[in-house]
Amino acid sequence: MEYRKLAEVYQKIESTTKRLEMTDYLVALFSSTSKDVIDKVVYLTQGKIYPDYMGIELGLAEKLALKAITRATGIGEKELQTMLQKHGDMGIVAEEAIKKKRQLTLFSFESEERLSVEKVYDNFVKIARASGEGSQDKKINLLAELLNIAEPLEARYILRTVVGKLRLGIADMTLLDALSIAFGGSKELREFVERAYNIHPDLGYIAKVLADKGIAGVKKIKIQLGIPVRAMLAERLPSLEEILNKMGGKAAFEYKYDGLRIQAHIKNDKVWLYSRRLENLTEQFPDVVAAIKEAFKGNEAIFDGEAVPVDINTGELLPFQVVSHRRGRKYGIEKAVEEYPVVLFLFDIIYLNGEDLTRVPYMERREILEKNVEETDRIKFATRIVSSDIAEIKEFFNKAIEDGCEGLVAKNTGPESIYRAGAREFLWIKYKRDYRAEMADTIDLVVVGAFAGKGRRKGTYGALLMAAYNPKKDRFETVCKLGSGFTDEQLANLPRIFEEYKIDKCHPRVWSEIEADYWFIPRIVLEVIGAEITLSPTHTCARDVIEKGAGLAIRFPRFTGRWRDDKWPEEATTTEELVEMYRNQIKKVEK
Ligand code: ATP
Repeated sequence: MEYRKLAEVYQKIESTTKRLEMTDYLVALFSSTSKDVIDKVVYLTQGKIYPDYMGIELGLAEKLALKAITRATGIGEKELQTMLQKHGDMGIVAEEAIKKKRQLTLFSFESEERLSVEKVYDNFVKIARASGEGSQDKKINLLAELLNIAEPLEARYILRTVVGKLRLGIADMTLLDALSIAFGGSKELREFVERAYNIHPDLGYIAKVLADKGIAGVKKIKIQLGIPVRAMLAERLPSLEEILNKMGGKAAFEYKYDGLRIQAHIKNDKVWLYSRRLENLTEQFPDVVAAIKEAFKGNEAIFDGEAVPVDINTGELLPFQVVSHRRGRKYGIEKAVEEYPVVLFLFDIIYLNGEDLTRVPYMERREILEKNVEETDRIKFATRIVSSDIAEIKEFFNKAIEDGCEGLVAKNTGPESIYRAGAREFLWIKYKRDYRAEMADTIDLVVVGAFAGKGRRKGTYGALLMAAYNPKKDRFETVCKLGSGFTDEQLANLPRIFEEYKIDKCHPRVWSEIEADYWFIPRIVLEVIGAEITLSPTHTCARDVIEKGAGLAIRFPRFTGRWRDDKWPEEATTTEELVEMYRNQIKKVEK
């Protein structure tokens, strides 16, 4: 098949913004494409050579692409650079360069060799796969080879594709429509084609199956280990009342972890991890790979969950940014893993030992999940309740926020609650808090207890239990666990410093509902800065003042390095001051 045909269709597609027109052009293209190359035609039209999850991208550096144009046309790189600055589009630069070359060359091009789709595709694959010594030169040659034969219009699209900027603006859904019409004669097949795409998101493969075996073949496409399933997504509603209403009065409520969605596939010893955008993350999370192997007791499964970095000493969930540098980084992973271990919170299972579970209702899937996985330090089940009681759900929501989550995801528990791959529907509804504000001031808190250290902090304290002062009741009320901001030396010295204040149970002037490993006479005051103040069902600070059953907590507290030796514990920040700060924080957001 001639590549020219693709280039002409791309030109037409570019000239319209109407989806129906685009679909018509694609239908005409696919209908006249032979079975042998239909997959390649589809990938090229997506601006790719493989489905995304394979992780093999074109994306040739512009610098190398310019060199290839020079090699094919003899036009100097400086001149090309100027053209690039003017047009801002490598495609146009290549097109103009080829035109120019043709004007300068005297012989006719009419009888020349034509570029085939196969040739373009093959060279693209070789360019993407070339690595190691001499690979740059090889890539330049492979591209120059195409440009030597290419017509100006072809050069435009070859260049845009090879630098990863084809951008025809065709949504996958438009391609699905076009394939259904081209191979089934109408959009009626669309439902089956879409289902296949949702569980096997490889449009080239689906096109090939359609061309070879028709719709019967497509209906047989199944979930396959190592090929990601498109993630199920959640709708949003603003109140718990509306959510319960929509869910028929009762629902499961799970913590909405604020991390990275991970779909884990396991087949005996082999594990694959995929992001929500279906990128392969396996190399970046060797710790998750090892953890899932340890926790899963069967042979084959696909799990859905959210990975969150955790402070092993405070148990606090950390903002995802602390591990985001792991993405795209091949080296130094081991160190990153040790520094910030992640916990994978599993909330679903969609495949088990040869069986597709996507059509099994949610409650049953959760049961199957819990039966086949044993929780470990690194693999946990998403915390949840099943409830129809607004007060109970509100309290659970506060707890989720205090524990570092964004809110809750409500899940339908009825027989219709299947796993709808790739869909955003009301079977899952997210409920997020509507404010987030920074704490501007530092506060002074009293150390009332401590927790034994883990990991690198073994032998010293992992975190301190901190309290604010309530002058009305003359007592200290807990508000956070403090584990960060200390130097290694300070950390090592903590047990020695607190030795003289140690007592064997919670001090009578301390109100705590948390069991600490060590208790102290409230005496030492530390300066602390936090990210924000949240409502908390666990901490006792200002309990019942803002909301019944809830106290206040500080999120992401850090020691500023300042020991307030100049303050008595009764001079620490008061619970009333924290209430005031919390109210101001909310006002600031509402403004
Ligand atoms: P947002 O930007 O609001 O997080 P989103 O667009 O990333 O939303 P949504 O589908 O709207 O994604 O919300 C669901 C997302 O929440 C999932 O993709 C997943 O990453 C995350 N999540 C965290 N905990 C859960 C849970 N228990 N169940 C389902 N999804 C969860």
